[in-house]
Amino acid sequence: MSRQRLNPQTGTAFRLRQGELLTVWDPEGEQVADLFCFEDGNPSGVLSSGRSIDYNDTIFFSKGHFLYSFAGDVMLEIVEDSCGRHDFLVTPCSLQMFRMLAKDDRIEHPSCQHNLEVNLAEFGFDPTHLGTSFNIFMNVEVDNTGRVRVSVPRSKAGDRVVFKAHRDLVVGLTACSDEGTNNGRCKPIEYEIGPKA
Ligand SMILES: [Zn+2]
Repeated sequence: MSRQRLNPQTGTAFRLRQGELLTVWDPEGEQVADLFCFEDGNPSGVLSSGRSIDYNDTIFFSKGHFLYSFAGDVMLEIVEDSCGRHDFLVTPCSLQMFRMLAKDDRIEHPSCQHNLEVNLAEFGFDPTHLGTSFNIFMNVEVDNTGRVRVSVPRSKAGDRVVFKAHRDLVVGLTACSDEGTNNGRCKPIEYEIGPKA
């Protein structure tokens, strides 16, 4: 498979076989990509932020860390990371969130929540199982009082993260729709599924 492009504020879903590599690039810099996955054939075997934070002893994931399912199985391993800062604390941006920020219940806005739900549903996924996404290149700062703040992504043009699948998975991936998370402008994301290592 050649390198694919996600247009701004869009998403996709695809199968990733055990042993295959998924590379995600930020082609222009300062752009977040939300990732969520479940076990192929087992829609309740879903990615778990809480398990992953617990079992890796960190909230800041990078090369050498593993992303776990709620059942405690390794789903993905981060095998390369040229950026070094990602988020695993917050859920995908949602229409509800945009309406709260705008203080207007009638606005419409694309969202990672919607893009993940729609694309994963094509693989039999129940959207009520969509939890905290692994937010590639998202920069959430945590101060010593516990307050969290979304800051400008640290990713530069061409930065990439490579994941290795430890099980057969269905992966959802977005080019994040939130202008505020992406330093004012939503940009594309690129990805490629590589051969088994
Ligand atoms: Zn988003």
